[in-house]
Amino acid sequence: MRNGGNLKHREVTVLGAGIGGLATALALARRGVSVRIFEQAQEIGAFGAGLQISPNGMAVLRAVGVEREILERSGASGAVVLRSGASGRVALRMALPEGFRLIHRADLVSVLAAAAVAAGVEIVTGCRATGITGGRDVADVSFDDGTDRSCELLIGADGVRSVLRAEIAPSQPFFTGQVAWRATVPDTSGLPCEADVFMGAGRHLVRYPLPARGLINLVGVEERTEWAEESWTASGAPTDFQAGFSGFCPEVREVVERVDQVRLWGLFRHPVAPLWHRGVAALVGDAAHPTLPFLAQGANLALEDAFVLADCLSDRPPPAAFRLYQQRRRDRVVRAITAANGNARNYHLGGAQRLVAHAGLRAISAVAPALMLRRFDWLYGHDVTA
Ligand SMILES: Cc1cc2nc3c(=O)[nH]c(=O)nc-3n(C[C@H](O)[C@H](O)[C@H](O)COP(=O)(O)OP(=O)(O)OC[C@H]3O[C@@H](n4cnc5c(N)ncnc54)[C@H](O)[C@@H]3O)c2cc1C
Repeated sequence: MRNGGNLKHREVTVLGAGIGGLATALALARRGVSVRIFEQAQEIGAFGAGLQISPNGMAVLRAVGVEREILERSGASGAVVLRSGASGRVALRMALPEGFRLIHRADLVSVLAAAAVAAGVEIVTGCRATGITGGRDVADVSFDDGTDRSCELLIGADGVRSVLRAEIAPSQPFFTGQVAWRATVPDTSGLPCEADVFMGAGRHLVRYPLPARGLINLVGVEERTEWAEESWTASGAPTDFQAGFSGFCPEVREVVERVDQVRLWGLFRHPVAPLWHRGVAALVGDAAHPTLPFLAQGANLALEDAFVLADCLSDRPPPAAFRLYQQRRRDRVVRAITAANGNARNYHLGGAQRLVAHAGLRAISAVAPALMLRRFDWLYGHDVTA
């Protein structure tokens, strides 16, 4: 790994200790850079449920030195299985090669946080950034405790409602017309280690085990015309989740019936930011490019951003480093987000369209089962650390 060059003498400030912020801090600290993270939550990684990590994300976790810990806390995902929600019948089974993992978000975050702290990163919790000012050579951040901080280099990894994005590339987040129920239940039956996607009109349910925790992860997505909550997440009523999937097959109903706690997420996003940096500040992860979760890539793309940003900063200062970073990332991110939007449509077909589409998937499954996965070689097969 190259060292941080002149960056070694600067301190980098990161907003947000999510997956993008922690991975960026760790990748920079591995290059000998001094990093301090400010996180609004009192506790790191306290929310969220399952995440699917694909080989492109695993390549980054390997490069920043946490592969062993991730393997210990995750299960190998053997397949993605597309099924009819109503009957449970398999439309397509995509066997996955090595490198696809199923993990609890809290475990991924705690592995990254522990490695970052061990590498010298300081994490300050309970500290919310409220505004950014400053010119090209310094960025001043105000925090909710009334303090300000002048940053030589500032990374905004503060998610969909990023305060840094509001400065660099202002845009109004919009409701995508989809909500997601997220819950876990004990895995009493030893579910095979693969992800099932049960598809129905206007809704789908993803189910996979989290073997390291003995849990089953459930994500139920439903189309809605509006999102009434002030916040983007709310505690949901399990009975509403169960009612939403009451028309699905017994296999789905049985597991959804066992849910006693569920969170409901309004899925919001922005367009991909036209500009990911200004002066000494840059954006990573959802702050730059939130995506619908239907290709399970948001966290994987944040990991890729983190590595590429640290790599670009390792041999040139900003703004040249940030220009190169955006150039290396933007087209790929746009392509992944477009593919996720396509899945949103395909998973939710109704009536005759669904029958035709599922018959098509079964035909592909019979003659060339590897074809569907090969269409995503550009995504899963790409290694930003190579
Ligand atoms: C239902 C669902 C399922 C998903 N499944 C997958 C999956 O299987 N695979 C996958 O790759 N992705 C998945 N994702 C997407 C993934 O969770 C996100 O893309 C990813 O977490 C983005 O990471 P991030 O670090 O950019 O942002 P975040 O995870 O949002 O982290 C931002 C951090 O910044 C902090 N913060 C925010 N504002 C401030 C502030 N003003 N000051 C200080 N701190 C602040 C937050 O508290 C948080 O800790 C899913 C998303 C959803 C909703």
